[in-house]
Amino acid sequence: MPSSWLLIENGTVVDGTGAAASAGTSVLVEDGRIVRVGPDATADAVPRGEPLTRIDATGKTVMPGLIDAHCHMTYGESRSEEEIDLYTSPELRTLKAAFHAQKVLRAGVTGISQPGGSYFIGVGLREAIKDGFVQGPRMTSAGRYISTSNSLTDWYPDSVGVPEGSIGILANTVDGMKDEVRRQVKAGVDLIKLADSPYGDYQAFTDDEMKIVADLAHQLGKKVTIHARGSAEVDAAVRAGIDWIMHGNVMTDETIGRLAESGTPLVPTLLLLANVADFGAQVGAPVDLRDGMKRMLEKTGDSLHRAHEAGVKMVLGTDTGFSVAPYGEWHARELELLMNYAGLSSLEAIQAGTQHGALMLGLDGEVGVIAPGMIADIIVVDGDPVEDITVLQDKRRIETVVQDGRVVVFDEAALERRWPHDRAQIYSVTDLTYDLVHGQAGEAGNGELAELDQSDARDLVADLQHRETSARMC
Ligand SMILES: [Zn+2]
Repeated sequence: MPSSWLLIENGTVVDGTGAAASAGTSVLVEDGRIVRVGPDATADAVPRGEPLTRIDATGKTVMPGLIDAHCHMTYGESRSEEEIDLYTSPELRTLKAAFHAQKVLRAGVTGISQPGGSYFIGVGLREAIKDGFVQGPRMTSAGRYISTSNSLTDWYPDSVGVPEGSIGILANTVDGMKDEVRRQVKAGVDLIKLADSPYGDYQAFTDDEMKIVADLAHQLGKKVTIHARGSAEVDAAVRAGIDWIMHGNVMTDETIGRLAESGTPLVPTLLLLANVADFGAQVGAPVDLRDGMKRMLEKTGDSLHRAHEAGVKMVLGTDTGFSVAPYGEWHARELELLMNYAGLSSLEAIQAGTQHGALMLGLDGEVGVIAPGMIADIIVVDGDPVEDITVLQDKRRIETVVQDGRVVVFDEAALERRWPHDRAQIYSVTDLTYDLVHGQAGEAGNGELAELDQSDARDLVADLQHRETSARMC
């Protein structure tokens, strides 16, 4: 059977390893794998009669597709945790996830890992993409986050419990945790996600619990990661042998030393915090939430700079899936944030977004680098991201997306589709008291509320929901 070939000619190659860019360089791909890079990557290497696609990359950057190690495909751009857990049916949630996967790929993100989500939608989506009947990035997925009552994801009062559609599952005993690992592995997950404390104020799993979960996952051939914002849980996670760590916002030098020594990668996932802090006002995020995120970012910047200096390996992750971090919009912003908040150079940031993400795809050493033998997930960019990392944030500059050696064709118009948000059944946005109706004219707040029209009221509802649930994000 003849091979099919792709030749990307005369571009500036940024290979993803952190090495300097190489101008005037061609890349030859045979059937999904890169076979030659450099002077001998020419059409002469293609046997006569075999199909060859040529792309002129003169003046463009040729680099590996981005890998986002923290992307929640089941969240559906939710404005609230209730929306994530309760309102959208699993059937519709699955279909929307398949739609949104196209948007992620269109942004030049050719690989994602989903560290937790509703049902086993991630497993199904992964298979559909692999089989080629859904367009999207290559993918690995966890199931529901394993949580204790002191963790992220056990949001609701015990009278409600943790509903079936929740992104988390409650396991307060070692037996319960082991049981859930076994069930998730049977259902086809690639990794287990543990949810430690929401803000890193305390360690929600014991050292033993982390170790037992990690050991069982590894025994069954799977990886394990953890939401860990505080030093205690990051430290415990490293000691437990957890494969990579999400966040690490506040870390002591001792913890950073252990993290660096272990070689355990860190996925800081700054994007969600920074989008709320920097742009939240434009979408009605409450002041308290925005200020809280700013404070968290300041602390995080201190920890991450020390971690980078100590040699901790960093990886691109965004927490895409919330309304403030929609699909296909902001993945590449994380690279700019890693430069600003951790002190990476642009080449190091690109490496964090390419080569370092391969582990999370279960393809370490096989993807995320432009070199012979590597899987051909490649993007051609109109601009120089080494000089200006922000060019990667503008989708219009991601001129070509190559996946498995094939140029992806997008239905650009269809990708514009957005949905209104599910929300609770609201009767009003504030209390209808006697004084509100009959109180003195000019009383603070009255006029303002009276002037709200229908669309303002809807925004205010979203605002209130944010306030109620802001703390629980991610
Ligand atoms: Zn997350």
